[in-house]
Amino acid sequence: MSALFERVALIGVGLIGSSLARVLRRDHTATRIAACARSAQTLDAVRRLGLADETTDDPAAAAKGADLVVIATPLSAYAEIGRKIAPALRPGAIVTDVGSVKGVVIRDLAPLVPAGVHFVPGHPVAGTEHSGPEAGFAELFRDRWCILTPLPDTDPEAVAKVTALWESAGMRVATMAADHHDKVLAVTSHLPHLIAYTIVGTATDLGHDLESEVVAYSAGGFRDFTRIAASDPVMWRDIFLANREAVLELLQRFSEDLTALQRAIRRGEGDTLHQYFAHTRAIRRSIIEAKQA
Ligand code: NAP
Repeated sequence: MSALFERVALIGVGLIGSSLARVLRRDHTATRIAACARSAQTLDAVRRLGLADETTDDPAAAAKGADLVVIATPLSAYAEIGRKIAPALRPGAIVTDVGSVKGVVIRDLAPLVPAGVHFVPGHPVAGTEHSGPEAGFAELFRDRWCILTPLPDTDPEAVAKVTALWESAGMRVATMAADHHDKVLAVTSHLPHLIAYTIVGTATDLGHDLESEVVAYSAGGFRDFTRIAASDPVMWRDIFLANREAVLELLQRFSEDLTALQRAIRRGEGDTLHQYFAHTRAIRRSIIEAKQA
């Protein structure tokens, strides 16, 4: 059977890029992998882990001759990478990415993609709080969703090939408009991370006397927030700046809801609190039923 892709360039081989490399190594053995990162340390790790056939710190060298280029760096590096790889892309190649915000990716990359090259923006909605090539694992994507946000004129065949790649990693693939993706992810991922960062920050600022107790009794709920708040600071800085509008709009609604709960607590309105919490409990049940827990 012919390979889905003959040569894949992974620009960025951290948690997501290296997990995809592991899927390619496991299931697409005929595919050659060219991996690009900035640091010698990351490239050394990629070689040691056997995740690529070639390693380089030059995105253009990795992209040269590739039939699929996957950009898997923090969002703030995209525009520079796009400028570097553009002259190296061969006609008919597909450029895709894994970035957590899609509107900004289309804004930064689409104008740089040469005619005859297909651009299929994507977001595998799967992750952990860990970073780097050592943190990756092939099963990361299993039973999770991958969202593709092709442009109206994107070649359907290119979309089908990227779909097949993520499906081979065990993902379910959905297609939607980039701005819709960004609104949905603001609710499901970006706001929860912002809240986790805030709660952990607030608890840390409470002062030294409380610190050891916060750690000791963290199983009361705090622990789950600390896991989310341990996520990569560069990645999350980029996400909030890139999805500013959707996050700010949502934050406004969140503040209003928080104020309503604050008032219910102050006034001793137990029914309001109970009703609210019963409703949110049902959401948890539907996530479990959808096997996304
Ligand atoms: P990561 O583990 O921190 O890895 C980032 C990779 O990008 C590293 O290999 C890094 O190389 C490389 N890199 C950074 N700047 C570069 C540049 N200018 N040129 C070439 N390579 C560069 O990050 P990640 O968690 O895999 O996230 C990557 C992307 O996936 C982000 O856009 C993020 O939004 C998206 N995403 C993340 C998650 C998640 O949960 N982590 C989930 C879904 C999507 P060095 O190590 O040499 O710096």
